[in-house]
Amino acid sequence: MNEQKQKIIYAVEKIRETMCGLAHEIHRDPELSFNEHRAAQRLQAPLAAAGFTLTQPLAGLETAFCARFDTGHPGPRLILLAEYDALPELGHACGHNLIGTASVAAALALVNSGTFTRGSLEVMGTPAEEEGGGKIIMADAGVFASADAVMMFHPREKNMMTRGALACVDAVFKFYGKAAHAASAPHLGISALDGVIQTFVGINALRQFFTDDVRVHGIITHGGSATNIVPAYAEAKFLLRASTVGALESVRQKVFSAASAAAAMSGARLEIEQGLTYAERNNNLALAGLFQRNIEQLGLSADAAPQRGGVGSSDIGNVSQITAAIHPYLRIGDVVPHTPEFAAAADSTAGHEAMLNAAKALAMTVIDLLDPASLQRVRDEFTAWKTGEAQ
Ligand SMILES: [Zn+2]
Ligand SMILES: [Zn+2]
Repeated sequence: MNEQKQKIIYAVEKIRETMCGLAHEIHRDPELSFNEHRAAQRLQAPLAAAGFTLTQPLAGLETAFCARFDTGHPGPRLILLAEYDALPELGHACGHNLIGTASVAAALALVNSGTFTRGSLEVMGTPAEEEGGGKIIMADAGVFASADAVMMFHPREKNMMTRGALACVDAVFKFYGKAAHAASAPHLGISALDGVIQTFVGINALRQFFTDDVRVHGIITHGGSATNIVPAYAEAKFLLRASTVGALESVRQKVFSAASAAAAMSGARLEIEQGLTYAERNNNLALAGLFQRNIEQLGLSADAAPQRGGVGSSDIGNVSQITAAIHPYLRIGDVVPHTPEFAAAADSTAGHEAMLNAAKALAMTVIDLLDPASLQRVRDEFTAWKTGEAQ
């Protein structure tokens, strides 16, 4: 291991207690998507003290921030992402308290150790990963446009360097019918609930004609208010996913046609509300390779990432369409995200150790990217991928 990386490890160890304390503080004070005011403040405070320049809000988002350290010397623009939103009822059951803290710790280690000597380094605070797609809004606002590389880590049950993620969009189907007495005068009513039910039936009929990567899953969020009233309003919420944004488009058309047909069949009027489109994840393999070598130098080893299935969606996908990006996972225990057990692991000794290892590996990878040849390999891979995409 080179001397700079040894300095990084030492610098992270030096702030071990304060960083574990920071992760713990955010964990015990969970805030939901777009309302992460205290977490954003907590993450920025040590960066301000270390000489980073702060900007908040960002891209029109109250709880988005950028903490920037500019060396004043020519070099790459490198970004470490911080997430810090929690889940309703479960708190930090996705471990975003560890994600934000790891990026802050990595940035502090780089600056405190004097190893970050060229270009600029940013900790970008990206709110609302769980609900709202903060990074999509920030990506659309151009926040990542001139970045050379973007990195973060996510806690998980395995060390996975290049796990994929599906393109995704959510849709709300609102059916408007007509109330009537369900027994004495049903012929005067129009059942909005039938619109919802036939939408589910129609989507189920489509499943044979979807490719294996496609996931369509929904719930009924309103189904009427009394059994003796023909439901005048009913609503269903769906998530549509496919391997790419391009493939998602044909899924969207088929599903929306099913809902329109259900409206025609039931006589109810349909309104569709769509959310933001989450892009699929484009893992930069050269960058992931650097990160992997660094975790191996820390005594960890990489597990295999699933090649097919077993993946969800995340707003890092949209960032990975714009610049070279990685979203590796490090193990915090035998726990599944979005469960009370995962929330406990996100504030355990194992969780804190994974956060510190992530901080070290992220900072060591930043050091790698200060070498022009390494950076060029990462950039060349991204450019080749982007060129291929455009064809
Ligand atoms: Zn999550
Ligand atoms: Zn998460």
